[in-house]
Amino acid sequence: MKILKFGGTSVGSAQRMREVAELIHAPHLDRRIVVLSAMSGTTNSLVEIARLLYSGDAAAAEARITFLQQRYHEVARELLGGQADALLPTLDQNFQTLHDLTAAPLSADGERVVLAQGELLSTRLVHAYVTEVLGRPAVLLPALDFMRIDTDEEPDAPAIRERLATTLAPYATAPLFITQGYICRNAQGSIDNLKRGGSDYSASLIGAAVGAEEIQIWTDIDGLHNNDPRIVKGTYPIRELSFDEAAELAYFGAKILHPSSVLPARQHGIPVRLLNTMQPDAPGTLISAKTGAEAIKAVAAKDGITAINVKSSRMLLAHGFLRSLFEIFERYRTSIDMITTSEVAVSLTIDDAGRLPQILAELRRFCTVEVDENQSIICLVGNLLQDAHGSANRAFTALRNIPVRMISYGGSPNNISILVSTDDKVRALQALNEGLFRR
Ligand code: ASP
Ligand code: MG
Repeated sequence: MKILKFGGTSVGSAQRMREVAELIHAPHLDRRIVVLSAMSGTTNSLVEIARLLYSGDAAAAEARITFLQQRYHEVARELLGGQADALLPTLDQNFQTLHDLTAAPLSADGERVVLAQGELLSTRLVHAYVTEVLGRPAVLLPALDFMRIDTDEEPDAPAIRERLATTLAPYATAPLFITQGYICRNAQGSIDNLKRGGSDYSASLIGAAVGAEEIQIWTDIDGLHNNDPRIVKGTYPIRELSFDEAAELAYFGAKILHPSSVLPARQHGIPVRLLNTMQPDAPGTLISAKTGAEAIKAVAAKDGITAINVKSSRMLLAHGFLRSLFEIFERYRTSIDMITTSEVAVSLTIDDAGRLPQILAELRRFCTVEVDENQSIICLVGNLLQDAHGSANRAFTALRNIPVRMISYGGSPNNISILVSTDDKVRALQALNEGLFRR
């Protein structure tokens, strides 16, 4: 079995849905489970509808729902032609669910029901096109029957495996399944989701649950690039990455892959291939246990970072200081990305500043604290154990004119993290490109 996941832009219009159908319907392909995102823009609209309902503006929410409904009718007509009429009542059930939710104040459960509609709609459309227009067999698998998260909101892998096996059992020879990314049920059995961008994670969890041969993530770019193509000219796709390298890159800014999605694949040794719907024959990026030879393969940047510097004379020659420091972050469930220390001071970074005021108040009880907002982590990813050619040295030389706030080297053999002010990020990425990847 192979898993093929298509993102929002890949199913973003009737035309794009037809192109996806071309890639998945052919009878000679391996058995496959196709995981779809919502059409691009839909989840954002649903977030906005939920926001309007929370703010008590039911009329505005109604208007947005009706607008979306009309848009889906148009897409259905364009995609299915005369066969659209048979599907419209089914699509309207999803919209009725939304309309019904405008009658009363929105609850957190209601919000999750709102957010779930996008993937339910996109899968219905593509499934109808494959079966009705192309006349190919395809089974629409309801993700809500098997995707589960536990009380910590983490995927419940054993439950997913068991339920998916039961869901698939009646279709022992079916060649093609289509299911929703992103949506799931929680420990209470209510509709929930794997958070924004979670469809990649769905694909990887499904791949792990069925022991897939390969997980393919189809987007509109030809793989993970060696640098941010929105900022730097002349980037190129990396052919091969190890699971660890891909996880670091995804976490530190490469937008094309959800960072958690690497974990289930790595755990089960399932290769992940990143492919481009616009250029289906391009090799893309292969993520597996193997890695290519280059020491530094890519750089990525993550914005919205807050740096916290903590100084205490008590730290001098004392033990247990770091523990009391980390306990504060632990108490406020805030994770730390980078850390550097000297004998009397510690600098660390967080990307979620939601609990920062409480954290600072506690830190100030025993330390002097300085905070720098608007920082970016520049992450160099590769196999640094193989850095026989001075790549790290070239990277630092390239950054000679850029003020560097922190450097973290040696924590992992796959990563060097460098903290700069976000104002310097573009310059830093360009300088690194010149210094490391000029061909
Ligand atoms: N539709 C969801 C989102 O936009 C999930 C996904 O596309 O991965 O976040
Ligand atoms: Mg995505």
